[in-house]
Amino acid sequence: MASETLDQAKTKVTEAVDRLADDLEKISLQIHGNPELCFKEEKASGWLSDFLEKQGARVERGVGGLPTAFRATIEGAKPGPTVAIMAEYDALPNIGHACGHNVIATAGAGAGAAIAASLGTLPFAGRIQVIGTPAEEGGAGKVRLMEAGVFKDVDAAMMIHGRCGTQVWRPSLGIIKVKCEYFGKASHASSWPWRGVNALNAMIQLFVSLDLMRQQIKPDARVHGIITKGGDQANIIPEHTTAEFYLRAPTKDYCRELLRRFEGCAQGAATATGCTVKVTADATVHEPLKANFTMAGLFGKNLERIDFPVDPDDGEAGYGSTDCGNVSQAIPTIHPYIRISPDGIPGHSREFAEWAKSPMALTGMVAGAKALALTALDLLANPGELQKAKEEFAKNA
Ligand SMILES: [Zn+2]
Ligand SMILES: [Zn+2]
Repeated sequence: MASETLDQAKTKVTEAVDRLADDLEKISLQIHGNPELCFKEEKASGWLSDFLEKQGARVERGVGGLPTAFRATIEGAKPGPTVAIMAEYDALPNIGHACGHNVIATAGAGAGAAIAASLGTLPFAGRIQVIGTPAEEGGAGKVRLMEAGVFKDVDAAMMIHGRCGTQVWRPSLGIIKVKCEYFGKASHASSWPWRGVNALNAMIQLFVSLDLMRQQIKPDARVHGIITKGGDQANIIPEHTTAEFYLRAPTKDYCRELLRRFEGCAQGAATATGCTVKVTADATVHEPLKANFTMAGLFGKNLERIDFPVDPDDGEAGYGSTDCGNVSQAIPTIHPYIRISPDGIPGHSREFAEWAKSPMALTGMVAGAKALALTALDLLANPGELQKAKEEFAKNA
């Protein structure tokens, strides 16, 4: 493919993102103002699908057996590789779009819409798809879509995530999700407390043991949880308590080591209090992100092309996790971060939710849409780059 054709296509697509920016901003704010929890993103997936269709993409709704998933395809001049751009649009309970998925959604859909609107058919072999991936926060929607075969023909995948800085590569941690239940015996909390077996004592003991354990785990591992049921009423010795935990680490092996030690703590608390315990680990393990510096490099160059600055890593924040990690272990994938807030604003905070609808977020969204679209074009226009990305993927087991 003549580099001239690629350069012209890039210019057209960049201009199309600018033309669509007002519409994209409107959808981003609409999604932000109507936060929908995992697997319930009916409005968001509808708005995004309609928009992509209107700009000329072929849209399939409810792909992979998930009603709020979608896939929008822009075909190329002839058959060839498939490059996917992922869009997330779920919110968090109570704190809304505190992870800024409204920005991910419109950046991803904006990239596809701009390509469809400005090029119609791609001047290269292959195709570009925008895959609407529900339920990142707690539902591992991408894992469900992978199991259903939605990523089967995808050669490379990418998305952006909003953050308090722009970084083309940051690691993410694997997660094992665990539920823990204690079973005791109810009794009157005042007149017969000694006849009860207190399932809340066991739960508190578990949290204390985990706090002690934390001193002996590697610094980048994380163990955190909430009590989802602490009892029924204060005058009853709690007979049943439940909690949920995430065990996170940079490798799956260390996640499993955390699970082994967690089980020891859980059993110890049961023994100490006379309760019985049930630990249930979620069958879906979130995998750490696998880096692809070939694709990240292309993304970085495209940020340069549109004059959007990359920031040094802030050095303070730890790492989160994403179901995009599982995609990255299956195919070459990138998950760069785009600035949508000032430095030092934590994700999953009410402040970050505010920033996710700010002018800064809208600027980041437009830049993200451009860089995603241009990087997808790079991979199709230069099969050598896609090959390099695949070779890098294969080399790093
Ligand atoms: Zn999040
Ligand atoms: Zn997120």
